[in-house]
Amino acid sequence: MKDCIFCKIVSGSAPAQVLFRDAQVTAFRDIHPVAPTHVLIVPNQHISSVNEVTPSDEPLLGHLFTVARQVAEQENLTAEGYRLIVNTGRNAGQVVFHLHLHLIGGQRMRHSMG
Ligand code: AMP
Repeated sequence: MKDCIFCKIVSGSAPAQVLFRDAQVTAFRDIHPVAPTHVLIVPNQHISSVNEVTPSDEPLLGHLFTVARQVAEQENLTAEGYRLIVNTGRNAGQVVFHLHLHLIGGQRMRHSMG
């Protein structure tokens, strides 16, 4: 989608530190990391948020989690653990309206959910 920064990263027309890319999913480092490891995992196709997800997206979203697991392994986070976050809409603080999984790890996190 025109003017979507994550679509530009997926297509290679905007720079990013890409860790994984296949036909369905791209994973790259967040530019403002909140922990030693902070990776964003996005579907290559533009889905604005969880609000726009449909049953036909289920294989893609399952794959998103498989890639999250692979990236967590690559980043040596599996043993100590990590957090996956999907912000949806204003109250959650979503600022980029291209669905993404935040993969955050490398430090002990507070158990806050709000
Ligand atoms: P969210 O609040 O869930 O929409 O998070 C969007 C995330 O995208 C933030 O953590 C930003 O730091 C990150 N971000 C925005 N632009 C870029 C970019 N060009 N490359 C990498 N990460 C980005």
